[in-house]
Order: sequence, then C-alpha cells, then structure tokens
Amino acid sequence: MTEVKTNIELDTDLRPHNFGAGPAALPPAVLKVAQQEMLDWHGSGMSVMEMSHRGKEFGQIAEESEADLRELLNIPANYKVLFLQGGATSQFAMVPFNLLRGKATADYVNTGFWSERAIAEAKKYCTVKIVASGESGKYRDIPEPSSWQHDSQAAYLHYTANETIHGVEFHHTPEVAGDQLLVSDMSSNILSAAVEVSKFALIYAGAQKNIGPSGLTIVIVREDLLGQVVPFAPSLFDYKTLAANGSMANTPPTYGWYIAGLVLKWLKEKGGVEAIAALNKQKAELLYRTIDQSDFYVNPVAISCRSRMNIPFTLKDPTLEKPFLQEATAAGLLGLAGHRAVGGMRASLYNAVTLDAVQALTNFMSDFAAAHKK
Ligand SMILES: *Cc1c(COP(=O)(O)O)cnc(C)c1O
Repeated sequence: MTEVKTNIELDTDLRPHNFGAGPAALPPAVLKVAQQEMLDWHGSGMSVMEMSHRGKEFGQIAEESEADLRELLNIPANYKVLFLQGGATSQFAMVPFNLLRGKATADYVNTGFWSERAIAEAKKYCTVKIVASGESGKYRDIPEPSSWQHDSQAAYLHYTANETIHGVEFHHTPEVAGDQLLVSDMSSNILSAAVEVSKFALIYAGAQKNIGPSGLTIVIVREDLLGQVVPFAPSLFDYKTLAANGSMANTPPTYGWYIAGLVLKWLKEKGGVEAIAALNKQKAELLYRTIDQSDFYVNPVAISCRSRMNIPFTLKDPTLEKPFLQEATAAGLLGLAGHRAVGGMRASLYNAVTLDAVQALTNFMSDFAAAHKK
C-alpha cells in the first residue's frame, strides 16, 4: 500500500466506531491513502475520479485489484472476475438470465430477507423451487440439509451465504443435486473467511458491506458458463460481454473500484483472509457471549448458524431500545439501529471493524444493562 504521509491530520483514534450494515466502515488506513491521493494519484496529476477508465493509470488500478482479489480468495484461473455496477440486486436478475441455459426451473434456499428478494426476482424469469425455507421459524435457523428438496432438473441452486438482516450465516457449503450449478450471494460475508471458489459456478457481492463503497458489485463466474444468456437480456446483463471487455463494456464505477483495490491491499497486509477470519471469529464470540450471558439482551438465531458479520439483538425491555441507541451514539458507537424490517438492534462486524471497537461496544452494553437493572 502507498505509504501514508504524516502530514495527514486525521486522528483515526478519535473517530467513532461504525457498526452500520452497509454502506459500512472502511479501514481508516484506506481512507487516509484515498485522502492523500485525492488530488494527484501517483504523480498522474489527476484524481482517480478524473481519469479515463481506458488510460494506463486506471488500467494499473484495475489489474492490481483483480490480481489481489484472486490471490486473497484463491480464485482458480478458469474463473472471470467482474467489477460491475447495479448492486447485488441486479444480480438477482442477471443470474437467471445467464445461468438458466434453456432450463425452466431454478432451486432457491430461503433463509431470510435477501433470499426472499432474490426469489421474487427470479420468479419473473423461471419456475422457482424452494429447496428449503426458514420462513415458518421466522428465519432463526437454516433447515437441516437432509430435509432439503432438491430438483435435479433445476439449472442451479442459489443461496444467500449470509443474511445481513436476519443474522443467519451458512458455515458450510451446501450440496447440489446432480450437475446443478451452485450460486451464492456473498454480499455481506465475502472475504470474511475462506471459501472454496471451485465449488461455485458463480459468487456475487455488492461491495458496500465488506469490500468498499457502494456502486461496485463483484462477480466471480466460471468461464465455461459464459455465452448462454437469454436473448432478451440487456447487453450489460450478459456476463460474456462484460468479461470480454474487462468489465469495461461501459464506464465502470472507477472510484469505488479504486477504493476496493486499496481495501484488498489493506487486507493482504493484515495477513489475508485466514488471518481476518480468526479475528472475525473472536469479535463475534465476544459479542455473542455478552448477549448470551446477560438476562438483558437477546439474539434469537440458532447457535449453529449465527452470523459472524451481522448480529441482531433486542432488549428484553423494548422501552429501553430508544435510550440504548441514543446513549450508544453519544458514546461514539454508531449504526446500531436494526433494519426497518425487523427492528431492534444490529451490530455489523465487517473486516474493517476492529476488536477494540467490539470491546467498546460490549463494555457499553454491560454498563447500560447494569444501569438499567430493575
Ligand atoms: C445489501 C445486500 C443486498 C443488496 O445489495 P444492493 O447492492 O443494495 O443491491 C443483497 N444481498 C445481500 C446479502 C445484502 O447484504
């Protein structure tokens, strides 16, 4: 990473801790480099925002970021890495457009809010078979894999690796039936722990949770699957077109791509995915322990599928939720309000959130509980 010059007076120790779900915290070291390079990227005389995506300067940024992502996730050579716009939500349509390959059905696992959204979109283009659903249990658990109803005729199996709102995460890679393709929405847990990319046909992730700013979406897709898009798909929804043009079939989200590139370099410096995964485990364990050992806070998710990235919780006395959030904000603990769909609180512990930040949160939670004990 470019060395941070000492004349930058941003005292990151004084910044509040950000537990927002997305757009979310970025490493302060990355923000400092971006600040330093804002007016003149590497002597080019231009901000990254001002340069042509086809120039050699941005070409270097694009190339390095892809190489770093490939290294961090151990992405095999027969996969394309795409840096796109449109968010994970566009992928809800692009996946069926490109991967149905003439088949009429697709298998979906329904584990919460984002699975529901992916399913609703796919239903416009094919028959969706729900392999398993956590809906009747209010998305507090992932149904036992032995109970899943696969349709071996389905083109692919889609699942949401981490449900950002319900706080439910897969800690294993699901099995598919026959030669089904495996597809995963990893928007909120990509790069948080190792994954075996070769098990997947396609992985996608909006950047604004764990990779960088909003406006950038990353797709990792097996090369042999390209070129079978439905004829009515917009050109920009065809992975083959996008891959053939190095994600530059039109103007890519250059600044977000650049910041993502800095985050990837930061992650490599931190020791990569294995190292950050160990830290993420520690962070999540500390918060779950604080919740479980209190008779004040509750997390409803089954232990076996609790998310390490997004931890929703409620207070046993709901009238204390407003004061909790107000006092937390005053104490420099930001972004803790739960999603409007489920209410309560939620702490997102993405890669950029430090163990110190989680310690500050759990200390605050213990103090708040002690102060409000009846
Ligand atoms: C945030 C999120 C989305 C939606 O992402 P957009 O970039 O807003 O389209 C989809 N899936 C998951 C798991 C998410 O966390």
